[in-house]
Amino acid sequence: MSLLACGLLDDANGALSAKRSDVLAVDGHQHFWDPATLPLPWMTAAQAVIDRPFGPGQLAPLMRTAGVEATILVQAACLDADTDSMFDHAARYEWIAAVVAWVPLDDPDRADERLDELAAEPKLRGIRHLIHDEEDPHWILQSSVLESLELLEQRGLIIELPAVFPRHLGDVPELARAFPQLRIVIDHLGKPPLGRDIFGRWATELATAAENPNVAAKISGLNTATTAHDWDAAALRPAVQVAVDAFGPDRLLCGSDWPVALLNGDYDRVWRETRRVVELVAPANAEAVLAGTARRLYELDRVPVHVQAKDEDGAD
Ligand SMILES: [Zn+2]
Repeated sequence: MSLLACGLLDDANGALSAKRSDVLAVDGHQHFWDPATLPLPWMTAAQAVIDRPFGPGQLAPLMRTAGVEATILVQAACLDADTDSMFDHAARYEWIAAVVAWVPLDDPDRADERLDELAAEPKLRGIRHLIHDEEDPHWILQSSVLESLELLEQRGLIIELPAVFPRHLGDVPELARAFPQLRIVIDHLGKPPLGRDIFGRWATELATAAENPNVAAKISGLNTATTAHDWDAAALRPAVQVAVDAFGPDRLLCGSDWPVALLNGDYDRVWRETRRVVELVAPANAEAVLAGTARRLYELDRVPVHVQAKDEDGAD
């Protein structure tokens, strides 16, 4: 529940503008991994700082300091073992409010079976594949994958796309039109080329994607979209402004992309600057962008019926 909803913003002389940044946020994008047990083929030598285990025990205190009350845990490897490990964490920690898992989208029969298995997981909300690690930039549009996307549409699951500009972002409108009931979430705003001359082309492609009402996007991973180490809210502002103009507050959510965020900053700084930029660009809708849209889109308040049933049975 946000501070606004708790009524804490009503206290006597509190200036609303100063208090708004106290909204308890939802971290719409974070990962856990242990490179010793789970291969992460995308990890390079340049990423040594994150080439170690990251788990809930490290994230929880960071969330408290940053004023984050819940997270959406997102797959980091295209492996069933990663999905299983995420659901283990999610069953233990209430604050992991949703999971974006992985199924083999290029194998629709196997994907269907796996989706049947995962249907028992109360926190499953979406599926993602690391399309940016595939050689084919249009991997998502191959016929076998489209068959699987139809399964997601039928099951009401979100497809999350790490659609990196300029290789993948342009495919989103075609996908959105082919599956009008499929909810599509673009990770990291498609990685805007901050401060580069192709920024305008990215802005056009993002706005074109946003013309489809079933497409939403995450304000996340922007600190690693720039090589500047002195990035701040002002540096992120042009991209966030484009996103707010294109999607509006009801189709935008925020995420830390922790632990990837550690490549150019830290959790606290990402949340401080994210709050600042949201306050700058969408002052009247900060609560929606920082928490409300994530809650609605990923149905974070859905009662985890299955977990309760298991407890009653004593079967867990
Ligand atoms: Zn990520």
